[in-house]
Amino acid sequence: MSWDATVLTLYPEMFPGPLGQSLAGRALAEGLWSMAAVHIRDFATDKHRSVDDTPAGGGAGMVMRADVLARAVDHAFERNPHAPMLAMTPRGKPLTQDLVRELAAGPGVSILCGRFEGIDERLFEARPILPISVGDYVLSGGETAALVLLDACVRLLPGVMGAALSGEEESFEAGLLEYPHYTRPFEWEGRTIPEVLRSGDHAKIAAWRKAQAETDTRLRRPDLIERHGGARRPPPSGARHEDEG
Ligand code: SAH
Repeated sequence: MSWDATVLTLYPEMFPGPLGQSLAGRALAEGLWSMAAVHIRDFATDKHRSVDDTPAGGGAGMVMRADVLARAVDHAFERNPHAPMLAMTPRGKPLTQDLVRELAAGPGVSILCGRFEGIDERLFEARPILPISVGDYVLSGGETAALVLLDACVRLLPGVMGAALSGEEESFEAGLLEYPHYTRPFEWEGRTIPEVLRSGDHAKIAAWRKAQAETDTRLRRPDLIERHGGARRPPPSGARHEDEG
C-alpha cells in the first residue's frame, strides 16, 4: 500500500491544493502516495451540524468540540490504523526534518486541522494525538500547516524526487543549512559566480561548500549549531558531488 494521508478538516476543498501540482502532484497521480480530505462536519450529530462552541471560562472566538472531533479521529484510525495521528497547533512540538524523515518512512499520517481558537484539550487526553507546530507564528487554520507537513514528507518518498540529488546534502540533513547555489549567466549585474565553482576541482568545491554551509549556519541559525553541539554527521561522499554535473 502507498503512503497514505487522512486530513480531517472543515475545508476539504483545500486539498490536495498545491500538492496536486509539480513533483507531489505527479507522484499522487502515479499512486506513489494517496490522500483523503475528510469533512469534520460529517461527524456532527445535532441538527445544525455544529462543530464548535463558545470557550469555557469566557473569551473571544469558538472552540472545536471534543465529541465531534473524536468521531472524526476514530474514523481516520479506521482508515489507516498504523498512521500516527497528528494535530496542527501552535502549541505543538516544532516540525523538524528529523520528524519529517520519520513520518515519511512510516505508513502515512492522519492530520487534524484546527480552526477558530483551537481544540477542546480533552481530545488530546482521550486519544493518542501528537500536537505539531510549523513555527512560532499563528495561522488562521491548520490546513496550510498540514500542506507544509505533507509536502515535506511526500518529497522524501521513494520515486518522488526522481533524478534529483535525493536531498542528502540539503539544509538540516547534516544539522546545517545548505551551501548557497549559483547558475549561469557567469556575470550578472556586475557579480560573478565564485571562481572555485568553475575550477572543476571536486574536492576543493566540496570543501568550499562545507565552509559556506558552516559560516551561513553560524550567522543565520546559531540555534542549529547549538542543537547539534558541533557533533555533526560526516558530509556525504565525494562521489555524489561528481553526479551533480
Ligand atoms: N488560539 C490559538 C491559535 C488558533 S489558530 C493559539 O493561540 O494557540 C487556528 C488554528 O490554526 C489552530 O487550531 C491550528 O490548527 C492552526 N495553526 C495556527 N498556527 C499554527 C502553527 N504555527 N502550527 C500549526 N498549526 C497552526
